[in-house]
Amino acid sequence: MTLELHNTLTGSKDPFEPLQDGHVGMYTCGPTVWNYAHVGNLRAFLFYDLLRRQLQADGYRVTHVMNLTDIDDRILDQAMHAGTTIVEYVKPYVEAFFEDMRSLRALPADHYPKATEHIPDMVAMIGTLLERGFAYEADGDVYFRIESFPRYGMLSHLDRSGLRPGMRVATDKYDKESVSDFALWKKAHPDDEKLGAAWDAPFGRGRPGWHIECSAMAKRYLGDTFDIHGGGVDLMFPHHENEIAQSEAANGKPLARVWLHSEHLAEAGGEKMSKSAGGFTTLRDLVAAGHDPLAVRFFLIANAHYRSRLRLTSEALHASAEQVRRLRDFAARVRRMDPGTQEDQELIGRIAKVRAAYKEALDDDLNLPQGVGQVFELVREANAAMDDSRVGEHGRRALAELIEEVDRHLDVMGGEEPGLAEEVERLIAEREAARSAKDFIRADLIREELKQRGIALEDSRDGVRWRRVTRERGM
Ligand SMILES: [Zn+2]
Repeated sequence: MTLELHNTLTGSKDPFEPLQDGHVGMYTCGPTVWNYAHVGNLRAFLFYDLLRRQLQADGYRVTHVMNLTDIDDRILDQAMHAGTTIVEYVKPYVEAFFEDMRSLRALPADHYPKATEHIPDMVAMIGTLLERGFAYEADGDVYFRIESFPRYGMLSHLDRSGLRPGMRVATDKYDKESVSDFALWKKAHPDDEKLGAAWDAPFGRGRPGWHIECSAMAKRYLGDTFDIHGGGVDLMFPHHENEIAQSEAANGKPLARVWLHSEHLAEAGGEKMSKSAGGFTTLRDLVAAGHDPLAVRFFLIANAHYRSRLRLTSEALHASAEQVRRLRDFAARVRRMDPGTQEDQELIGRIAKVRAAYKEALDDDLNLPQGVGQVFELVREANAAMDDSRVGEHGRRALAELIEEVDRHLDVMGGEEPGLAEEVERLIAEREAARSAKDFIRADLIREELKQRGIALEDSRDGVRWRRVTRERGM
């Protein structure tokens, strides 16, 4: 089976075929760096990572572009409040974004273009849209004329009748021909100058709207038409619809052939996690609460299919941590085992079957949860076989290959857990303090907690040492 992906544009699961043999061009909407990314954003970013890894596993070379939105109303407000420029204001959040991506082991994109560094591309595209009658100027602003693009709504399958109010909307803020027309360029406000958020353009000094940045930067790095455009489902309308309108009107060619959207992540209360709504959870919050970033990674990509809603609860994160631990322990056991002389042929047949089923699940619109479910069944069987010394060299190699294949997507089995050493050292210090204070109950609780996490403590004359213990049985 070849890779099939659910294309929002066609509304169906279609076999994937790139424009160029062996190469995939992929644009995904990145973070607005006005604050830390919330976990809902991270779900979309890890979905891009999973997609990219699957394409690479299928043998494609991938050019992945992910933009950084470093200008928008929230950034302007915050920079104003902080008395700095937008470039200065976003710096720590750009760094934090890359840190988050590293701790979640997302593969780096090939390009991370920043909006403020691509203003000339946007100005050129807006110029083309004005020339061709797809855009108009109104009091220093420039708007896209939705009426001029009959295919508007093709992605979200909108009923256009509701989008065609002929009346002119004039408020103190807008002078648009139609309510649904959207801004390509906003006239500079005197404050924008202080914030470093105003640029010259033939149609007047100002700053770009949000949507035009993706159209302009996608064209710069991937050309007029490319293979895949991805984003969270909340971006489908209007953002992606607007990107299509701008790009296709300006370039006269289709933008992306396949559009992929990942679903929302809900907070425990069932409410959509959105930073505009105020309180939102970041990776930092989860790590501070004791969660391992790799458990967060596993939870976000392997707990539910990317097109299903997912609910963030600490129980679910703990369950993911346990699953990651089981996989790591299993991988370590297979690495270390001495192959027996016996070879369980039935097990070897099962490994081959699971491997094929895993590949099939991933090729079926990236169904990682289903693939991983199969692997966990096999882990149980293979552990039992190792307990009984029924795994020989052939079986060991087959298991090692399967682990390698699965970890190409999951990437949770190799290396030490990031931050583990510091976390363990912190708990050890806490335990020492409890012992000095003769709080032996607390000290024992900490030892027990570490044991639960697979860490054994050894009191020695040189102080306390720790090591990872692998539970060989009872999976
Ligand atoms: Zn975008």
